[in-house]
Amino acid sequence: MWNKHAETFLGCDKEYRQAGIVMFGAPFDSTTSYRPGARFASREMRMHSFGLETYSPYQARDLCDDASVFDAGDLELCFGEPQTALTDIETAAAQILKDGKLPVMIGGEHLVTLGAVRAILAHYPDLHIVHFDAHADLRDHYLGAKLSHATVMRRCHDLIGDKKIFQFGIRSGEREEFSFAKDHCFQQKFTFFGLHRLFEKLADKPVYFTIDLDVLDAAVFPGTGTPEAGGVSFLELIDAIQDVCQLRIVGCDLCELSPVYDQSGCSTATACKVLRELLLALKT
Ligand code: MN
Ligand code: MN
Repeated sequence: MWNKHAETFLGCDKEYRQAGIVMFGAPFDSTTSYRPGARFASREMRMHSFGLETYSPYQARDLCDDASVFDAGDLELCFGEPQTALTDIETAAAQILKDGKLPVMIGGEHLVTLGAVRAILAHYPDLHIVHFDAHADLRDHYLGAKLSHATVMRRCHDLIGDKKIFQFGIRSGEREEFSFAKDHCFQQKFTFFGLHRLFEKLADKPVYFTIDLDVLDAAVFPGTGTPEAGGVSFLELIDAIQDVCQLRIVGCDLCELSPVYDQSGCSTATACKVLRELLLALKT
């Protein structure tokens, strides 16, 4: 199932047995509605990560000394068949959980989240989701498809139920998605305002944390399938990540980098830095 030929992400070279965190790539982008290419994200991030320091001046922590991360490489996923790909992701995440480790998944398009959430829900029935994104991803179907990166949060809602999804940074969607969110989710449009209220609401609850990188402003992060103007800055994002990581995180992902749309490499470098900060902020 694992592709052993991939390089590891910077500083993520601990042995599986000793690692508290296991990261893996889910290179799938078959339902992307506008520009595909997110399947190349994990591979490019591993390569570009060596342009980054392992030390984070933001958190005064170092990936080599202060984190224990095993990079398992990429899953080999079936293109064109979302159901099969999701089952393989679910199986991989379930194995990592069974071994008592924290799964960190690199997409891929956002639909990959559903596979991980299925596995995590089996371990933590009272699962809540914190979701950073430009898009609500709450459509019931997209062009007839129930499984799509535009429907992924709606499918998660089907599984985990009402008032358990907390969205931030949302600035795009259909009218119906926004009215659905009003009744069934917590949604903060445009910003991370109100993030601190999560500390009371979610105190000891198990939380899955999903970061769609297009929550960043399109000027900061053009390398994505559906860029949206009016997003957050890099500093706002890594501050918010550190806050969310104070919660009881039981799984997380980073998705929707599409390296080919930013030939300067800046978007990939930004994604690598976000991942470094996320890995260092997670408590294991
Ligand atoms: Mn999304
Ligand atoms: Mn998005």
